[in-house]
Amino acid sequence: MRLALTAITDELRRLKASGVVSISVSEEGLAALRNSFEKRPSAPPARPAHPKTQPPVEASAEAPAPAAIPPPPSVVLPKGDKKTQWEALRQAVLEDPFCKSRLRPGKKVVLGVGSLDASIMFVGEAPGAEEEIQGEPFVGPAGQLLNKMISGMALSRAEVYIANIMNWRPDLPAGADGVQTGNRPPTESEMAHCLPYLRAQIEIVNPKLLVALGATAAKALLGHGTFGALGEVRGRWHEFGGRPLMVTYHPSYILRNPINRTKRLIWEDLLKVMERANLTITEKQRGFFIGT
Ligand code: URA
Repeated sequence: MRLALTAITDELRRLKASGVVSISVSEEGLAALRNSFEKRPSAPPARPAHPKTQPPVEASAEAPAPAAIPPPPSVVLPKGDKKTQWEALRQAVLEDPFCKSRLRPGKKVVLGVGSLDASIMFVGEAPGAEEEIQGEPFVGPAGQLLNKMISGMALSRAEVYIANIMNWRPDLPAGADGVQTGNRPPTESEMAHCLPYLRAQIEIVNPKLLVALGATAAKALLGHGTFGALGEVRGRWHEFGGRPLMVTYHPSYILRNPINRTKRLIWEDLLKVMERANLTITEKQRGFFIGT
């Protein structure tokens, strides 16, 4: 019930953010909603307004129905090696009707990238403008910075795995030219739809540990409502799916605050990640970003 209500309120917020000021709800839909609020356990279940149990229905790209975020897909990986499984997963995400319905023309669904044998998996929030063009996570300005952070750890982008909670760029109203300029955080139910795809990537790659980049990723992995400010959970070890999870700042936080003090905070979290992943840490690395 809570999930259904969250889905409805998320969708209403999403519509509001995209400029919709009113929606019409059928009498039947209203009756179904009223019915679900009335606690009548013995009454026969009302026909739900948005059936949760039905398989996801292909949504029209022009007019996705309100509250039509389908239930999270169940992902069953085929037998085979990691590459086979990853390719099958990629195909499933590319063909997910709901993911496809969220894309603007010419834009791409985004799955993770990197080594399928990585020990460390970074998890960001959602694709931005560059990412939805290239179909790859973290290729814009935040990605350039993430690359630098990774090379500070004496690793390369190809040696880690980089994913997002979301597989598409959350939509905002586009300008007259049809181009979306800003970004918005994904809603809870958008994230819930994509989370099985992230779980499947974790299952395939089987990393030693995960690093959540920023509050949105942390909320999706630790649970919505489990913390208020990022400072409450950052720099500490948590757990996701039985794996150690470090929470740190999103690289865009550094882009907004490019001073050594903030760089050092994120770097201290990454030193903990290196230690836990049994990577060699030089004295030089230990001293990065100390001082102003
Ligand atoms: N920010 C993210 O969280 N992910 C991306 O892929 C790009 C920017």
